[in-house]
Amino acid sequence: MGFFKKWGSVILLLLAAGSIAGIFVSDLQNTQTSAIGVFLVIAFLSLIALLALGGVFLMYAWNYRCKSCKKWFAMKKGTTEFAGTQNAKLEVETGVTRSEYDGKVTQRHFSKVDHTRDVYKINYICKYCGNKDFDSKFGKFRMS
Ligand SMILES: [Zn+2]
Repeated sequence: MGFFKKWGSVILLLLAAGSIAGIFVSDLQNTQTSAIGVFLVIAFLSLIALLALGGVFLMYAWNYRCKSCKKWFAMKKGTTEFAGTQNAKLEVETGVTRSEYDGKVTQRHFSKVDHTRDVYKINYICKYCGNKDFDSKFGKFRMS
């Protein structure tokens, strides 16, 4: 897959950059043992940073990948339509009990209250094969 080949080379490039940085730091310190340590730390940190970045990027890119023709960055956002409401019972604080002596809160009371949120459908269309897909977006829950 071209995608992974491309990112594989980016990872190698960054690892190489990490090693060069490690060698540079070792020159400054002029100590063999700590140089290897510094290199390992830099290589490790760049790898962790890369994995995190790659993960975030993949999660983002996945939404724009066409499930039909498998092309990346193919899905174009189209219209957003209202798709109805969703109900749920959510716990809210309904009151407090205060101490008779100093007025401090001694107990908080909660109960389940009906809530509603709006649901929207976001349409996507593939710019290569025309495959249609959609995503759901939810509004904030509010007491109904
Ligand atoms: Zn497609």
